[in-house]
Amino acid sequence: MGDVEQPQQLRTGERAERPVVRRTVKLRLYPTAEQELRLAEQGHAARALWNLLHEWYTFHAPHRWPSFKEADAAIRQARREVEWLAALPAQACQQVLKQYIHAWQAYWKGTRGRPGFHARVRRRLSVDMPQAQALKVARLNHRWGETNLTLVGRVRFRYSHELPGLGKQAPAGKITGARLVREVNGWHIVFRCALWRELPAPGDHTGSAVGLDRGVAVSIATSDPDEPYHTHKPWLSPKETERLRRLERKAARQRRAARPGQAVSRRLQRTYAQIAALRGREKRRRADWQHKVTTKLAARCALIGIEQLNVRAMTASARGTEERPGKGVAQKSGLNRVILSEGWSQLATLLEYKSAERGGMVVRVPARYTSQRCSACGEADPRNRESQAVFVCTNPECGYGPVNADVNSAYNIKTDAILAATWPRGPASLAALGSRVDGRSVPAWRKRRPRRWPRPNRQPICPEVA
Ligand SMILES: [Zn+2]
Repeated sequence: MGDVEQPQQLRTGERAERPVVRRTVKLRLYPTAEQELRLAEQGHAARALWNLLHEWYTFHAPHRWPSFKEADAAIRQARREVEWLAALPAQACQQVLKQYIHAWQAYWKGTRGRPGFHARVRRRLSVDMPQAQALKVARLNHRWGETNLTLVGRVRFRYSHELPGLGKQAPAGKITGARLVREVNGWHIVFRCALWRELPAPGDHTGSAVGLDRGVAVSIATSDPDEPYHTHKPWLSPKETERLRRLERKAARQRRAARPGQAVSRRLQRTYAQIAALRGREKRRRADWQHKVTTKLAARCALIGIEQLNVRAMTASARGTEERPGKGVAQKSGLNRVILSEGWSQLATLLEYKSAERGGMVVRVPARYTSQRCSACGEADPRNRESQAVFVCTNPECGYGPVNADVNSAYNIKTDAILAATWPRGPASLAALGSRVDGRSVPAWRKRRPRRWPRPNRQPICPEVA
């Protein structure tokens, strides 16, 4: 259940009065050896179809861009003539076309890179099954379920998460489609579900407010004095890390040994598979920890403040240019690797939907000065952070500290989040939110000088308070 889909608008054919929450549920498939072959065939056919489309579109562009109808007709004709393409169900072919067009739209919007060819090696295979009726999902017992996959047959899956509309305990709703993905540990099915459920209004949560500071040394520092730190062991053990290093060096060596234009050797493919297995383990451990922590935080807190972080800018290489080479390139790349392996944006995504499900809210505040500012007196001074890990206020009238620097940041983030959530009415309007978020937790200096730092949000996030 790692994948998250944000609630969307109603699609045609659904009754408008019914509140719908969209979620995806990812379950592990257990195909037989023969079924697995057919799935791989379909996955590669989908990938090859993408490549054909890309070649066709880029050949025509920019003089004449083929229309969706033309592309669809071309695919239909190709399916009749090309044998391997017939292995992919017609509906799945259409989905490839839709995804291809979405990829260009995302590129023009600037949210994703330019679409390109999908290489055979190191590619996650996927096949879309958009028709829910064709799936005929059934539950066999409390551990197993079964589904129909076009041109593959009945395939069993592990029933590790409830699916809507199956049994008394299942949530009300229906399955609207599915996607098959081949991960390093085997094929999975991602069910798209529409749940007939109304989300509580933001502010219905009866918990407290908390600020979270995502970091490297401490994964999450919080403003909650009962549990200031959420940490985890390294995702991979020292032995596994060492093995990963060795495999990556081996892959580099094998790549160097290849002649230009030569196909990827079987040995290199095997090394890639071994690397992917370790990376997959790392990813699953991270997702497990993130799910546990975010569930706990979303259950406990009504208002969760996090920093707006531009991870891409933060993890830019320190390499510099040829004329002006950067300093500490290796150290920076090591730090970048750690930042990226923490999965900060995924953490925020999980928090946001889990919080919304419980009537809480997540507020993103500007990261500016949150680490240099004193959470007791409000003085922002880089000297407060002479030591990286410890915060000591240099204001002689205050003298706050020494405290953990990340915890001080977390207090600042909490303050900013409360202000952002209640802007423009100010923290006084917090009283109207009841005892859920304690207005007294905003320090007095912040009430006096609310405009000293940039306003966190232009729109009030909290519901209108009378
Ligand atoms: Zn101070």
